[in-house]
Amino acid sequence: MTSAKGAESQNLDQILKDKMPALGIDLGGTKIGCAPVCDFKVVGEPKKLPTPKGADKIIDTLVGLIEEARRDHILRGVGIATAGIVDTNTGEVIGSTGNLPGWAGTPIKKVIESRTGLPVHVDNDANAAAYGEVKTLGLTDKTCVVAVTLGTGIGGGIIMKGELYRGAHFAAGEIGHLRVNLNNHRLCTCGLFDCWEAYGSGRGFRATAKELLTNVTVDQTPLAALLPDPPVDQVCSAASQGDIIAKRIVETWHQHVCAGIVTLAHTLDPDCFIISGGMAKFVDYELLKELVIDKCLPRVGERLDIHQSTLGDVAGIIGAAQIALDHLVLN
Ligand SMILES: [Zn+2]
Repeated sequence: MTSAKGAESQNLDQILKDKMPALGIDLGGTKIGCAPVCDFKVVGEPKKLPTPKGADKIIDTLVGLIEEARRDHILRGVGIATAGIVDTNTGEVIGSTGNLPGWAGTPIKKVIESRTGLPVHVDNDANAAAYGEVKTLGLTDKTCVVAVTLGTGIGGGIIMKGELYRGAHFAAGEIGHLRVNLNNHRLCTCGLFDCWEAYGSGRGFRATAKELLTNVTVDQTPLAALLPDPPVDQVCSAASQGDIIAKRIVETWHQHVCAGIVTLAHTLDPDCFIISGGMAKFVDYELLKELVIDKCLPRVGERLDIHQSTLGDVAGIIGAAQIALDHLVLN
């Protein structure tokens, strides 16, 4: 009788535990977003703060957000998604990131665990977003899904049979640095030349616009007045209104996006690509698919699905929290 009761209360404990959220935190170069997450869903009010300068101030801000969330929720743990290559065992950023100066080398997991007493998992932001997308969309049975973040830069996450592929040194998915040109034409933020990111990202789009608008007069297109840094949305809206030079810029950018996708398609032969990030809304998915089919081996390109993310901004938050719940707290 006693043992049956014990088992019952143990079950109840487990049920209650299963309902406890983890706090998902997405740490970006300009802002920090967070929300409590349970069962792949945001279960409380999301918060957003500007990212402070310097590692100590970032840590203080993260601890503050965790303590604030604890007033309303009993947290099982914390998942942090950050830019940079992350050693997921130690929870430390081991590859520098231009967007967060001084952040590399910070023992994030150790410091936050000791200050909050909660289990913490730290992951690369694009990997976390990929995990969030795949788990939320129920794509865990797919052989391979590649999530591409097209933003100011380009990030990626590779999920095989529902699990992140991290590589031998935690750097798998650093797809922004695939080499797409051999002419040493454009310098990437990483210091190398001709990375995919220097062409296919928002920054790459603006560089292409600048190149194609040089020596063009305002009589030919009003966009020439927007130099030296033509905004992406204005170029895209001019293209949709029939501006010939704007159309050429947008089509060239699609060819640049296609270049990285084709390399990844031939390397990984994935079921699908999920595109997210600030530039995802500017992609013409039919045009991109056409370009990819044209440049891929027939069996690879035709069966490939390329679509826009449905989670948008919260993918990193959901993914970071869910990895913590799935891998860290249970183990
Ligand atoms: Zn690069």
